[in-house]
Amino acid sequence: MKNNKVMTGLSVLALCTALTSPALATNSPNGNLYNENQVYSVNGYTDYAEMVKRLQQIEANSQGKVALEVVGQSNQGRDIYQARVGTGDKVVLIESEIHGNENTGTEALLSMLQYLGSSNSPEAQKIREEITLVTLPKMNPDASELDRRGNDMSWEDVIEDFPQLADAAGPSWNYYNNRILQDRDYNGRPGFDVNRDFNPDLNYVPKAEDIPGTSSDPGWYITPESQTVRDVYKKLQSEFGKVDVFIDLHHQGQYYVEGTDNLVTMSLSADFVPDPGTTEGAKYAEYKDNYNFEYSKQLNLAAYNALQALGENSPFNNISLYQQDLDLPGTALGSFALNGSGTVLFEVRGQSHSLGQKKKGQLVKAVETGLYGIINGVVDGSVEELDAAEYDNIPATAYSPGL
Ligand SMILES: [Zn+2]
Repeated sequence: MKNNKVMTGLSVLALCTALTSPALATNSPNGNLYNENQVYSVNGYTDYAEMVKRLQQIEANSQGKVALEVVGQSNQGRDIYQARVGTGDKVVLIESEIHGNENTGTEALLSMLQYLGSSNSPEAQKIREEITLVTLPKMNPDASELDRRGNDMSWEDVIEDFPQLADAAGPSWNYYNNRILQDRDYNGRPGFDVNRDFNPDLNYVPKAEDIPGTSSDPGWYITPESQTVRDVYKKLQSEFGKVDVFIDLHHQGQYYVEGTDNLVTMSLSADFVPDPGTTEGAKYAEYKDNYNFEYSKQLNLAAYNALQALGENSPFNNISLYQQDLDLPGTALGSFALNGSGTVLFEVRGQSHSLGQKKKGQLVKAVETGLYGIINGVVDGSVEELDAAEYDNIPATAYSPGL
């Protein structure tokens, strides 16, 4: 529980970590819960070098269908890759590992790129014709290599990049230093939560008076990783007019489907900022005409329905809604939702520090199934026929079993 205490002090609420959770039961019939004394292996996951090799192979074998491009560099100088497939006029942008200890999204993206880049099945051909799929696997590679949440960057590095911040009131609030977080020691190796560094104003330039900020304030694009994603997003906007769909692939703690003793396989969400058209969202009024909560709900339902279709009593039925009514404009999802993208959060059970590679196959399959549910729904237009109100019937997430 030490992790939860740290996080509580840091922010009212942190995406993809324990929320304000009480101790988890250790005797759940489902097992697989956190054990303080265990070392959790992550060797079964693809590391950065393996990913680069794999992407290059996928591109080489795709006969021009997959285009690989270096779109930026991490703070430690690692290349950040974009892999793009398809020529349709609807754009689906998906990123993985903005938190480096949340690995299943990368595995799912590699598998999808392999399939869409090489298969001539009617399904693959149709997807390539109807959409342009743009992926940013392991977009925070320094964090991935350290198997931790934060990137590998000091406040001094930030000031070097943005000298106007030298007079700011200390580091930004999402800075991890001199502490242990999620079993990772940031002493002497600080970093930022990149997923609080986004700003709905895509042209925002960091200002000293906006530091340190809070979780309900926009971020600053002070990290090279968030800048890279922002630049990719803007480029797609100018090429296609808008980015239709943005999906962010995460992991969370181990929770229960409300009212049951079933561990959540994955949580979903469409809700990251208050609706700019409501009183609560008035501070975002300038984004009112772009924001499309209804479409985000439909996209989430497409993922949910695809997972439910795998059958009663399967682990893929244990899908819940992530915490709702959030105000997190510094997240990529919050910022891009305000810019008009339909947005979907995937939160897979258990970070690598607490679950390792256990259940990897099943969890990767859950991510892939949900992603194909969304993609196929966009491809054939069926997603727009879904009743957005059904989103609210997806069960909530609970912190203890609820039988
Ligand atoms: Zn996360």
